[in-house]
Order: sequence, then C-alpha cells, then structure tokens
Amino acid sequence: MPSSNRKGNSLPPENSTNTYVEALLQKNGTRGEKALEAIQEDRVKQYRDFTVVVGYDDEYIVEDGMCTCKGSEYTIKSDTNKKCWHLLAVDLAERTGSTDYHDMWYSEVRDLL
Ligand SMILES: [Zn+2]
Repeated sequence: MPSSNRKGNSLPPENSTNTYVEALLQKNGTRGEKALEAIQEDRVKQYRDFTVVVGYDDEYIVEDGMCTCKGSEYTIKSDTNKKCWHLLAVDLAERTGSTDYHDMWYSEVRDLL
C-alpha cells in the first residue's frame, strides 16, 4: 500500500517556495524584503524580450543573472552570493510563478516612456 507512507496534506506544493523565501530573507535581510515586496506588488514584469523590475525611481532590466542597476555591477564582481534585490526579486518571482506577464516588447514600451 504506497498510500500508507503519505502524511496527509502536510506537504503542499508551495512548501519548497516558503523555505526558499525564508532562506532569502535570512540571507539577504533588507534586500530580501524589498524583493518580496516587489513581487507582492506585481513589480516584476516579464516582457517578451526582458524581465524588468520596477524600483522606486527607475526600472531595471534583469537578464541572464545580470541587472542594469549600479549595485549589481559591483556586487556580482565582488561576491556572487550578494545579488542586488532586483535579481532576488526575479529569482523569487520565477520560482513562485508571480511575474506580471506582458505580451509586449520591452524595447518598444521603453521608447514610449
Ligand atoms: Zn539590480
């Protein structure tokens, strides 16, 4: 009886995500909180060509683990474990499936801004 090994519904699918979120917050403190906040407010936007994180005063393009913000350039070179919060937000949004998808080209949207 394979079903006898199961423990009811104690392991919902989002369990691994919760663990990830906790680790993220523990490891990254304020940056983790910012990342989480961005996701809750739908500020991680997936366009056809880029993933964009809307910050407080600008938008940042995140691509292949790189971010266009200044902090990222510095932190990536010095320590790969210290990603800027935009990268954390994208990472988290992808894991939780909470990117705000836009069926548009960001390069075109950007021109309109
Ligand atoms: Zn960044």
